[in-house]
Amino acid sequence: MTTRVRFAPSPTGLFHVGSARSALFNWLFARQQDGVFLLRIEDTDADRNREEWVDVIINSMAWLGLDVDEGPFRQSANAVQHKAAVESLYEAGVLYACGCTGDDVQARKGENKTPGYDGHCRDLNVPRSATTALRFKVPEGMTVVDDVIRGRIEFQNAVIDDFVVAKSSGAVLYNMANVVDDRVDRITHVIRGEDHISNTPKQQLIWAALSRVVGPDLPLPIYAHLPLLVDASRKKLSKRKDPVAVEFFRDQGFLPDAFVNFLSLLGWSPKGEEKVTREELISQFTLGEVNQSPAFFDVVKLTNLNGAYVRELSVEEFIAATLPWVDPSTALWSPADFQPLWPAERFDPGRYRAIAPVVQERVALLSEVPAMIDFLFLENPPIDAAAWTKAVTGDRDAIAILDAAIAAYKETEFDAQVLHEVTLAFTEQLGMKLRKVQAPIRVALTGKSVGPPLFESLVVVGRDEVLRRLSAAREVAGTTAT
Ligand code: GLU
Repeated sequence: MTTRVRFAPSPTGLFHVGSARSALFNWLFARQQDGVFLLRIEDTDADRNREEWVDVIINSMAWLGLDVDEGPFRQSANAVQHKAAVESLYEAGVLYACGCTGDDVQARKGENKTPGYDGHCRDLNVPRSATTALRFKVPEGMTVVDDVIRGRIEFQNAVIDDFVVAKSSGAVLYNMANVVDDRVDRITHVIRGEDHISNTPKQQLIWAALSRVVGPDLPLPIYAHLPLLVDASRKKLSKRKDPVAVEFFRDQGFLPDAFVNFLSLLGWSPKGEEKVTREELISQFTLGEVNQSPAFFDVVKLTNLNGAYVRELSVEEFIAATLPWVDPSTALWSPADFQPLWPAERFDPGRYRAIAPVVQERVALLSEVPAMIDFLFLENPPIDAAAWTKAVTGDRDAIAILDAAIAAYKETEFDAQVLHEVTLAFTEQLGMKLRKVQAPIRVALTGKSVGPPLFESLVVVGRDEVLRRLSAAREVAGTTAT
């Protein structure tokens, strides 16, 4: 039998990293089993759905590189089937009408402390009307969920209350719609977050009832509930405290391959190194090896992993990946709230190409690039006041260093190796260390104390502009010298 899995997000908010992990594990399993990966947008909760969240899901899946074989389908397109299934189950006596309001149920709870609904209308033969919901008559006995990850989980049916499957408005609720769709889609494995475990016995009961009453008699899907994602304080990732939207990570300049690799480690580990390609993931991933303990969403680890992926790109790939940050006019997309550091017309692809290889070695996130290279495209790059004070105006050696640099750079060839040697030579004459000498030169050139390697930067800026900036700094140092 062909493996058929689905990712079934509800478009009710940002695309959460936990959803992305579920999507990935389904995708990996499908690819590995030569199966089918299907995307079903569960959009039946009209009060909470927004069309823009559907776009976010689809764009994020594309960014992650999780291609679907079937879909995207809309759950709402199956409304007729959901209603037909409800009618059949009602006819067969599996569902019953209930006219209790929420307040009625609450009031009785107070009296007899029964958790959930107490079965009040179960045997009352309440006639259906515009004010009655339909509830599932949970049979006696036990429902066993055989979870691939958690093993056998037993639910006493006595603790599963007669849950509502269709509201008085006729709206069919999640558990019912989800099962009808999984049957229509011939799903063989349901892989999703552990927050759904409590739904599973209800869904198994619905599935079995549909197999019996409506047919066809389909085997229950195999369930796998993925572990919770937690933050550094080992608490469930929270929308309020933690970054949880996939788009946020894209906008920070994480690479999709690095992000996918990191997601794969949330509950599962490869045999050897943690850095694994998609192909290796597909061949190594084993659903049964996913563990149940909460998985730490470690942003530091993700950032380091991203740095490793950035360094592995070819220079051309690196340049292409950074376009949204360095040359938005030619990029295919733009990070949210992006503030360019230089006017678009000042961007010089040749200069960027020349510095890119050394920048690539020094960033973990693509969004770090603009601040490292703004001095290439701005005549007067913004000045870090503390760095300027420390290395230029507050250092009594700055004048001698800048004078020596100006004199030497006037004459020499503008080549990184040659500039390095020439700088070493005057450093020795001054009786100083290279580090010390580089500081005022760097700040004069870039406005900052950190950045790409100095000699490569000098070459890209070019002699005339370098001399202009060093002289300007020398003048300021001269007038402020004590
Ligand atoms: N729409 C549900 C959700 O987003 C789907 C759960 C499932 O995978 O069955 O949580």
